[in-house]
Amino acid sequence: MKKFDPSTSIHDYLVFGEFGDVNPSITDSSTFTFMSPKAMNDSFQNDIEGCFLYSRHWNPINKFLSDTLARLEDAEAAQVTASGMGAISSAVMQICQAGDEIISERTIYGGTYAFFKNFLPKFDIKVKFVDMQNLDHVEKAITDKTKVIYAESVSNPLLEITDIPAISKIAKSRGIKLVVDNTFSPMIISPLRLGADIVVHSMTKYINGTSDCVAGCICSNREFIESLVDVNSGATMLLGPVLDSLRAASILKNIHTLHIRMKKHSENALYLAKEFEKLKLKVYYPGLKSNKHYKLYNEIMNEGFGYGGMIALDLGSYEKAEKLLTRMQEEKVGYLAVSLGYFKTLFSCPGHSTSSEIPEEEQKQMGLSEGLIRFSIGLDNDITIAYERIKNCLEEISLI
Ligand SMILES: *Cc1c(COP(=O)(O)O)cnc(C)c1O
Repeated sequence: MKKFDPSTSIHDYLVFGEFGDVNPSITDSSTFTFMSPKAMNDSFQNDIEGCFLYSRHWNPINKFLSDTLARLEDAEAAQVTASGMGAISSAVMQICQAGDEIISERTIYGGTYAFFKNFLPKFDIKVKFVDMQNLDHVEKAITDKTKVIYAESVSNPLLEITDIPAISKIAKSRGIKLVVDNTFSPMIISPLRLGADIVVHSMTKYINGTSDCVAGCICSNREFIESLVDVNSGATMLLGPVLDSLRAASILKNIHTLHIRMKKHSENALYLAKEFEKLKLKVYYPGLKSNKHYKLYNEIMNEGFGYGGMIALDLGSYEKAEKLLTRMQEEKVGYLAVSLGYFKTLFSCPGHSTSSEIPEEEQKQMGLSEGLIRFSIGLDNDITIAYERIKNCLEEISLI
């Protein structure tokens, strides 16, 4: 496969505003005028390029941001949404109908897990959770009713790498759509190039990067994105998770530093992961040579953006995790907060927060320990300072 540089692809796309302003003008309108009733009528019948009807359907700034995301993921088309969950739920509900089945990776974001486990059954859509690392388990779970295989490219919170090319082969041979959540690894992994059919993101995280809003996107082929906005049958059109255009404009500006941020997040995370390993802590980071996903990650990643900014550390018990989280915030390592992709380091205990939707017994099966701390490593100019602070905290509570 030819090398792909998502940052070049984004920067090759030149758009400007009505007056040549270097940032495209913000669409401050919910609705658009037509020169004639006939033109309005035509627009309802067929999408007309460059012609806008109503902002829940499309507006110019959301279109600019969507086109940028399509370039990021090397997709034909994309659509922005008001949240990551809005993207995930719309994409899945567009494909599935009552009676259908989904096969999902079992270690996924808690909100997605809850949507699959508790919400979709109301519509008679059944989700089977499997260990995606075991391809046999995936194949065995497939039935004639399977319409979607769902995975996260870098899974939350254990940072397992999904073998997208292998899963895609299985999906393609059975006519099943592979949907991949790429929230943890924008720039680093290009799931569509590896065989996925649809990519979803929570742009709330790295893509926006400033933790000031919630947003999402869906990237796929033109046909699928058009089906989402169909006025009669499209999931985003009819469920309505539309991104506000002021936000779309601010995200579009942030996206242009994404490649620099990803490099720095990755560099800092790799440094800390190596140091944690030297301290003989149980660290999960797929950029460590000792990590079981290291080889696969290297095979499928784009060059130049590192291994990502997420680290998980297993301290064995919730009591210890709680102590470390409290002390790290006091020592200004970063914030005790859920979410990720912020310029400051964020840390939380997934078993008691972002994965708490997953029952305890299942958490155990997944290897998700109570004492697991998830770090989203920040953009610290000198990460050794953060390391010294973390080390002091660890020493104080006799963890090293
Ligand atoms: C946060 C997150 C989501 C949900 O996104 P929202 O923007 O909060 O709706 C989905 N998947 C992953 C991997 C996430 O981290």
